[in-house]
Amino acid sequence: MMQGAFLPGNNTVVMREVPVPEPGHGEVLLKMKSSTICGSDIRCIYHEHLGKGPERYQGVVAGHEPAGQIVKAGPGCRRFGVGNRVIVYHISGCGVCNDCRRGYMISCTSEKYRRAYGWQRDGGMAEYLLAEEKDLIHLPDQLSYSDGAQVACGFGTVYEGLQKIGISGDHAVLITGLGPVGLATGALCRKLGARRIIGIDVIPERMRLALDLKICDEAIASGPGNVAEVRALTGGAGVERAIDCSANDAARATAIRATRKWGKIVFLGEGGRVEFNPSPDIIHDQKTIFGSWVTSTWLMEELVERLVAWSLHPEELITHRFALDNAGDAYSLMASGKSGKVAVCFDEELK
Ligand SMILES: [Zn+2]
Ligand SMILES: [Zn+2]
Repeated sequence: MMQGAFLPGNNTVVMREVPVPEPGHGEVLLKMKSSTICGSDIRCIYHEHLGKGPERYQGVVAGHEPAGQIVKAGPGCRRFGVGNRVIVYHISGCGVCNDCRRGYMISCTSEKYRRAYGWQRDGGMAEYLLAEEKDLIHLPDQLSYSDGAQVACGFGTVYEGLQKIGISGDHAVLITGLGPVGLATGALCRKLGARRIIGIDVIPERMRLALDLKICDEAIASGPGNVAEVRALTGGAGVERAIDCSANDAARATAIRATRKWGKIVFLGEGGRVEFNPSPDIIHDQKTIFGSWVTSTWLMEELVERLVAWSLHPEELITHRFALDNAGDAYSLMASGKSGKVAVCFDEELK
């Protein structure tokens, strides 16, 4: 038997004893090493259970950012085996629909087979995790398990969005929302060569962290003057690229309006609304707004390769690590917004 963390949906975490699973055909058993908490765990499961039908949290072991080491491999595994260090792409798709074949198991169209770890099948907040081999991404020795855990959702999602809008040394970048996704965005934009990075948030602790980690060059407090402030910092023109990581209505409008002519905007933050005036805000200035949801398995592999080449360690965004027994404290801290990334760690990752 092993301990697992469950989220009943009333701002609490319940620990329960469950059997250690046995890997079947094409499956592996991971000894969990690091399991980070994503904002959507808080928004859609911890506070209350949002989502309908098959999208809903099914009362399984929580945690959709898992990294660990394979301790058992079922028959039929083709690439991975005992001892391998791996990240788990957090949605297990059917593998044969069009979206799965593109590597975007997030968009799997099979109602019967699409199951996200920590939502519809057991996730990483337990001592062991049963995963399908096809969902695994190799974790190189140069990266820690806590680096890897954040690739499973957060960093992967950001990397996909940045690929869509393209980031280079030509670009001043605006990031609205400096939670863990916003911080990941800044860290990746730095490595992609962004000329100047401006962040906006409401929580002073987050602004401080973004500046201390040198992820943002400027951190502005959220307010009605934000568009003018961003323009003032960019010679009056506005930024070339904007990434919304806040899901806040006003912040999204700021991201659109503070972007200059021919600029590109990507929305990563989930939920909420936005109001803007198409003609003055995008059409006349030839702007493009992208939506981006998670990433593909192949782009996740590419990101891992880049992280090694850049010596970029996502674990630097982790401000707090907890043992599984204290998962309740981990979720409540993450829900407060007064932290960077929060991780539940095991063995050598618990330092
Ligand atoms: Zn997530
Ligand atoms: Zn599929």
